[in-house]
Amino acid sequence: MRRVGKNSFTEIYFAGCNPSFVETSDGYVMIDSPQQPIDAVRWRERLEEKAPIRYLINTEPHADHIAGNAYFPKVEVIGQQQLKECFERYLEAFGSIDERRERAKASDPDSVWLLGHPGYPPSHPPSRVFEERLELHVGNHRFEIIHMPGHTKPQTSVYVPEEGVVFTGDNVFYKCRSWLQECDPWEWREALKSIAALDAEVIVPGHGEPCGKDYLEEQAQIVENWVGFVERLVERGLSAEEALQEKVSVTAQDPYPIGQRLFMYDQRLTEMTVRNLYKRIRERKEAE
Ligand SMILES: [Zn+2]
Repeated sequence: MRRVGKNSFTEIYFAGCNPSFVETSDGYVMIDSPQQPIDAVRWRERLEEKAPIRYLINTEPHADHIAGNAYFPKVEVIGQQQLKECFERYLEAFGSIDERRERAKASDPDSVWLLGHPGYPPSHPPSRVFEERLELHVGNHRFEIIHMPGHTKPQTSVYVPEEGVVFTGDNVFYKCRSWLQECDPWEWREALKSIAALDAEVIVPGHGEPCGKDYLEEQAQIVENWVGFVERLVERGLSAEEALQEKVSVTAQDPYPIGQRLFMYDQRLTEMTVRNLYKRIRERKEAE
């Protein structure tokens, strides 16, 4: 558990994203949920020992940010409208409860009995939604919940002025491999500018260590590198499949290793990134 502000904490060592919380004078506000059921349940019991959890805000629809919501069944979940719309679809892509239970036997045996546990519904999507912004007051804290599409369409940042902290989800990957498998790279660039404009000292990324604004330029450069690489493939007139036959030097675009227990997706991620950017660059050129 890492302190990132006077009353703000994040956990960077769980399998999955960096789930976080702010302790207010009227209970906790969580940002994303621990991916592994056993982590989620332990986390909840530890927090509720001291004070109630008031809200859970999701920054994006990727399973490592939302799968653990199920283990907070009584907590009101907040998310961007499009996140609510795609919530179940993204969880389906993560696998059925039976498939997840089978996988967990090898990767997370302590969680097996919690998958499909009668006390927890299979999912827990947002019940409170917003389009562009939502301001939330809890105890003495104000939460500015801001739609910042980029890494995903419903991508959201949670800025807490009293703490000088912004939680960005995967619009920032601090010194670990950036996932561009469905991003809009141009919106992502704008999102990074919006994050830079906030009066926050600490950025809590979706993955990796908390960092400062000085990292945002490097994050933008990694997205830019990938766009440049795929643009050159498109300019050579290759099809997406031909482009994928080319040797891709991942480290030339992004020097960082793949994060938290995600090494098995290494090759697939590169392919998904090239396919996604290829399609978007082609569409953009056609629209010109
Ligand atoms: Zn993500």
